Amino acid sequence: MNVLIVYAHPEPRSLNGSLKDFAVRRLQAAGHEVQVSDLYAMNWKATLDASDSLDRDPEARFDPSQDSKRAYAAGRQSSDIAAEQEKLRWADTVILQFPLWWFTMPAILKGWFERVYAYGFAYGVGEHSDARWGDRYGEGNLAGKRAMLVVTTGGWESHYSTRGINGPIEDLLFPIHHGVLHYPGFDVLPPYLVYRTSRVDAQRYAQIELELGARLDNLQTTAPIPFRRQNGGDYDIPALTLREQIEPQASGFAAHLE
Ligand SMILES: Cc1cc2nc3c(=O)[nH]c(=O)nc-3n(C[C@H](O)[C@H](O)[C@H](O)COP(=O)(O)OP(=O)(O)OC[C@H]3O[C@@H](n4cnc5c(N)ncnc54)[C@H](O)[C@@H]3O)c2cc1C
Repeated sequence: MNVLIVYAHPEPRSLNGSLKDFAVRRLQAAGHEVQVSDLYAMNWKATLDASDSLDRDPEARFDPSQDSKRAYAAGRQSSDIAAEQEKLRWADTVILQFPLWWFTMPAILKGWFERVYAYGFAYGVGEHSDARWGDRYGEGNLAGKRAMLVVTTGGWESHYSTRGINGPIEDLLFPIHHGVLHYPGFDVLPPYLVYRTSRVDAQRYAQIELELGARLDNLQTTAPIPFRRQNGGDYDIPALTLREQIEPQASGFAAHLE
């Protein structure tokens, strides 16, 4: 299996750095091919702007979507974007490794998605009609691939529980799992989380390696989060609301799980 690890931490000697190195070793030892996009080490440009599209008229108004569409279709994207897209095509499984910063991914990783997920590659794919609303939410160019988050948090597990002050971790990660990963087609595996990082010592670190190692060993067989497919009959198109007869009392993020 080909595994791409997209890693966002500025310090190689961090907990995240250790876990990334561990994951590379574990996956390679199991015979997998591994590539790492170490975004800080790559000095990844986080902001999407006009320079991402080559050959554009500098006088023309910059349109982030339409310029992305033209550049992607013409093969005239910035080379760093095209290289990351090629890694995604290569990968069977993508692991995103990052510390939770302000309840989501670090800005450098958000910028990776904004730039690499071009129009025609990750969105704006497929037929849009009264019967279909594009290839997305379970369909699209990244369908058939798996993705998993490995996330560390300063907060305690209880802070992220159903009634915890931070909100349930499933809800906080829903925009990444569903909006960023399931949208272009990924099957999304349950995340691996390390809570309360300030308490990680050698003993707890050893336990984390055991748990993460088991998750890595089972990447190909772990059941994905059962998100509903947009074009699978559960939603009215084009309103894209759940059909009335489907769990009428359900609302919020959890309604989009089968
Ligand atoms: C801008 C910002 C925003 C934040 N927002 C949030 C938020 O919204 N929610 C939240 O919960 N938290 C938040 N935090 C906290 C953040 O999530 C944690 O600081 C982060 O997850 C810790 O990961 P790290 O890799 O930086 O850990 P490190 O600080 O590098 O390490 C944590 C502990 O692990 C130990 N350790 C590291 N490597 C090893 C090893 N190989 N063996 C044994 N022990 C090791 C270290 O000694 C240390 O005690 C935020 C932090 C910042 C800076």
